[in-house]
Amino acid sequence: MIAENLHKVLSTIQPGIRLVAVSKFHPVSALQEAYDAGQRVFGESHVQELVEKQQLLPKDIEWHFIGHLQTNKVKYMASFISLIHAVDTMKLLKEIDKQAERNNRIIDCLLQIHIAKEETKFGFTPDELRTMLQEGEWKQFSHVRICGLMCMASNTDDVKQIADEFESVRMLFQEIKNEFFPTEETFKELSMGMSGDYEIAQQHGSTMVRVGTMIFGERNYS
Ligand SMILES: *Cc1c(COP(=O)(O)O)cnc(C)c1O
Repeated sequence: MIAENLHKVLSTIQPGIRLVAVSKFHPVSALQEAYDAGQRVFGESHVQELVEKQQLLPKDIEWHFIGHLQTNKVKYMASFISLIHAVDTMKLLKEIDKQAERNNRIIDCLLQIHIAKEETKFGFTPDELRTMLQEGEWKQFSHVRICGLMCMASNTDDVKQIADEFESVRMLFQEIKNEFFPTEETFKELSMGMSGDYEIAQQHGSTMVRVGTMIFGERNYS
């Protein structure tokens, strides 16, 4: 079933867009099934769960952290994490830099943009992002690589609103690229789209979609 779902999702993803299989709250056996079907990129949003799964599953998996990350927990994943999607403060970026250096690695990060019209979502507003990048402290961080932006659209059925939100992040990405990363080829990722809206996101410049439910089914939070 998982293999079938995975292939179905993959068949709807445009060439060049990467699929992050969001496996939070699903058991190791479910991830193994997706792995056996060829999936190598998995996204988790809780640190302890991520670390446990990383220890149990094959070592060629590329682990992405997609959730809200507390500064004091960076150390648990710094030795193996491939991409941290939701960096939402300078303090967090600084801590990732520090822990990456301790592990003699460079950790790829995305900056989370707050775009949805909901109070509960984390991330920089476009103006906060501009200010933060202008201040320039991040330029001293030699062990993090800012590879692009990430966002979550509003949780709504209004397709036009979702499309507008993704489009505004696409334009922000271009602006930030031109102004701060004009020659960095590694600044190229736009992590946008989940089960309910990835087909819209890929019409608006997404390079990476984060899909859970459509692959693994509903999550059991109990
Ligand atoms: C859980 C989660 C997803 C996946 O959501 P689905 O609707 O199950 O596809 C994607 N992105 C983030 C940040 C998440 O927390």
